[in-house]
Amino acid sequence: MTEPLSGAARRTPSAHVLAVANQKGGVGKTTSAVNLAASIAASERRTLLVDLDPQANASSAFGIHDPEVHVYDALVGAAVLKDAVHSTELPCLQIVPAGPDLVGAEIELVGRDARERRLEHALADLRESYEVVLIDCPPSLGLLTLNALTAADSVLIPLQCEYYALEGLARLTDTVARVRDALNPELAIEAIVLTLLDRRNNLARQVEREVRSHFGEQVLENVIPRNVRLSEAPSHGKPVLLYDIRSRGATAYLRLAEELLGRLARKHETLDVPVGSSLGNGEGGRDGHSA
Ligand code: ADP
Ligand code: MG
Repeated sequence: MTEPLSGAARRTPSAHVLAVANQKGGVGKTTSAVNLAASIAASERRTLLVDLDPQANASSAFGIHDPEVHVYDALVGAAVLKDAVHSTELPCLQIVPAGPDLVGAEIELVGRDARERRLEHALADLRESYEVVLIDCPPSLGLLTLNALTAADSVLIPLQCEYYALEGLARLTDTVARVRDALNPELAIEAIVLTLLDRRNNLARQVEREVRSHFGEQVLENVIPRNVRLSEAPSHGKPVLLYDIRSRGATAYLRLAEELLGRLARKHETLDVPVGSSLGNGEGGRDGHSA
């Protein structure tokens, strides 16, 4: 039920920019950014993924290694972000990759003007070309993440259901509040997504219950299970839906994308809600199996 992308019928609003952030490593930020971006693009929405982590895992997940121009060049003003845009196997998905010298950006930018606004300014020219922009943040609350939060409309927080899941979350929400006060008054926490979830595990189920009772509606209903296909796909340079569309991991991200788009649609009237879902090979829809 998606409108055609070209033509005057589709109003071109500015993209919704979503930062995928959590200063903890290994909680599924990159896996979520990559596979949500692919799932959103699969529903024919023009999508841009920005890799803002010097480890460049989101870039290599698309088979991009050591790109000539990457996000660093745009942050330091050596190139425009448009020149760093790479295409992917999915027609609606493009990516701005990262490269190893992004490590230096944290230090190099310190002395510069508007150092937290570098990404925001670099993105300004591109926002009208996309409906959704996802930013994969590094596992820290340093200058790169501050750039992401300053450029973003909202934040998606991946949370792994383990004993220390909530540890550090207050620091993240404090950082979001500080960025809102000083740099980006409209910044919202969009949602929390539970990742790497194994519901056979008692502790994981208990943590899920606690997170849901504490954060309520902020926690997305769809969760991401532990699924080996999700960890294999990057080594093939593909998002999971191009690697194994039938896997639980692929289905989970397609459904999560649908839920997230529904939320965004309530804010952005120009993002139409997927009705009956064209996502997931006709099988999508959270209650697609209820008949
Ligand atoms: P982060 O970006 O927060 O550091 P990653 O997305 O890179 O986390 O995930 C950390 C590791 O866990 C990676 O090796 C990734 O392939 C794996 N992984 C992430 N999510 C899942 C999942 N749902 N099931 C199985 N493995 C996963
Ligand atoms: Mg990562």
